[in-house]
Amino acid sequence: MSDEISKEFLEAFSTQCAGPFGECACGLIWYDTFNEYDEDHNDIVKANLNNRNTRLSVNGLVSYYKVGGEQYVMGCECNAGYKYEQFILKYEEQIAEYLRQRRLKLLDQAKKISLEVDEGHVV
Ligand SMILES: [Zn+2]
Repeated sequence: MSDEISKEFLEAFSTQCAGPFGECACGLIWYDTFNEYDEDHNDIVKANLNNRNTRLSVNGLVSYYKVGGEQYVMGCECNAGYKYEQFILKYEEQIAEYLRQRRLKLLDQAKKISLEVDEGHVV
């Protein structure tokens, strides 16, 4: 069994943000070395090459996903999203039932709100 986070999970939890460098919640700082940048970027990368927290991204812009209140770099070796995805997969039936029940509760609340509005009551 692979320990890779699926593409679908990363897309679902993507922050839709990316940049030439960025820090993962685990503390590693990633620098894009795939795209060409100005000298300032290259100088920053060179200055941090020997930092033990520095990682070089050869896949392009540094992008993020967010789970558990933390923002992680996609592709980071901490692989933090893996445990969250495994939890979802392990309990997918329970989670589906929870979401179904929550949906029903929200629909019921929405019906009450529209009835109250129809009767001219302001909540
Ligand atoms: Zn990380």
